[in-house]
Amino acid sequence: MKTYISPWPETASLPGFPRALSILGATGSIGDSAFKVIRKHPDLFTVTALAGGRNGKKLARLCAEFRPGFACVLDDGARKEFLDNLPAGYAPEVLVGPEGYARLAALPQADMVLSAIVGAAGFEPTLAAAEAGKMICLANKESLVLGGHLIRRACAGSGAVIMPVDSEHNALFQGLCGHGDDGELKRLILTASGGPFRGRDRQFLESVTREQALNHPNWSMGAKISVDSATLMNKGLELIEACHLYGLSPHLVDVVVHPQSIVHSLVEYVDGSQLAHLGMPDMQVPIAFCMSYPARVAVDVPQLNLADVGSLTFEKPNLDAFPCLRLAQEAFAAGPSHPTVLNAVNEVAVAAFLNGKIRFTDIPAMIEVALGRHREADVSTPEAVLALDAQSRREAETMP
Ligand code: NDP
Ligand code: MG
Repeated sequence: MKTYISPWPETASLPGFPRALSILGATGSIGDSAFKVIRKHPDLFTVTALAGGRNGKKLARLCAEFRPGFACVLDDGARKEFLDNLPAGYAPEVLVGPEGYARLAALPQADMVLSAIVGAAGFEPTLAAAEAGKMICLANKESLVLGGHLIRRACAGSGAVIMPVDSEHNALFQGLCGHGDDGELKRLILTASGGPFRGRDRQFLESVTREQALNHPNWSMGAKISVDSATLMNKGLELIEACHLYGLSPHLVDVVVHPQSIVHSLVEYVDGSQLAHLGMPDMQVPIAFCMSYPARVAVDVPQLNLADVGSLTFEKPNLDAFPCLRLAQEAFAAGPSHPTVLNAVNEVAVAAFLNGKIRFTDIPAMIEVALGRHREADVSTPEAVLALDAQSRREAETMP
């Protein structure tokens, strides 16, 4: 078994402290958690650049607090809102759109990039950070699903390091303890909360609402990943993410449902040992781990007391009611362009569900149709990946 995060991030090659950060997706849920860590440790982290999407007002508030030299927003409307809300006497360089995100990801002044844009929009900046040799704290799992092979190649060429922010992959990183292609690993086990509809059948899922889908039992997250958690697509994307991060074929990655979200994932070794990572379900924990690696720093998260939790339970995922996990497994096995299609159609379908245009159960149905039609295509360059992403979105938009 070959691991990708191998050679393990060499302590000597990592940036020293204080580490200068470029944060992409600063106005989102991951951004909120990252700022809690940064506020607690101003001696360890400085903020060089902040990028949001459309929420210019929130980005301006964050910039007023952290005073980065660079900022980026998605469009001119957000730029105006951003500039209108900046305090007098402070004028960061303001960039707009995808080229701006890519530039902030590769800024020579930044040691570390927190990649936390949601969706395929995170691909190009993550690739830019990989090409620029950055220490990448990666929350944007979609970029690995879309073009993990290209990001891996860029990291290998530049010496960039990926630190997995996604809580399951962070747990695996900790459980792997530097093990690589040494014949000692047997299996990775991703835990899944099961989302708000765990235990429900297909018929129930036909009529669930947006509000029900967004009501995750354990985690507070952005809308898209909350719906992905409800369909189990989040676990499907994470399975592909794990394969890219650790260089594995999908049959070596299992999924177990664990409703309490206390065990974040497990690594199994050939001697039968399984190493689990436990913690409160709060993204400050993996974010702090990544940003301060190899040091460990304190975070303001309630202490985990297992006696208070009482019991930890585990069950098999129901692939009949939640076909998205199976679809992701099949897409990854079918060839490198299939996950690009899966991801694009999922994003279109989730947006349509959130806008009240389709039912919850239409999300897997649309993906199944698209994957059934798809014939393996060229994804050997970023341009080819983005073209296939755009084409798959167009086709998904016109599905009945
Ligand atoms: P949110 O929806 O809360 O935030 C998304 C961020 O991306 C916002 O800053 C938003 O800007 C920005 N954004 C949206 N669209 C674009 C675009 N087209 N171009 C540039 N920026 C854009 O999402 P989360 O923080 O929950 O998730 C972010 C990523 O982290 C996702 O990939 C998710 O899968 C991953 N992740 C999240 C976890 C969590 O607990 N939240 C856990 C593990 C992984 P604005 O709001 O200003 O428009
Ligand atoms: Mg996760």
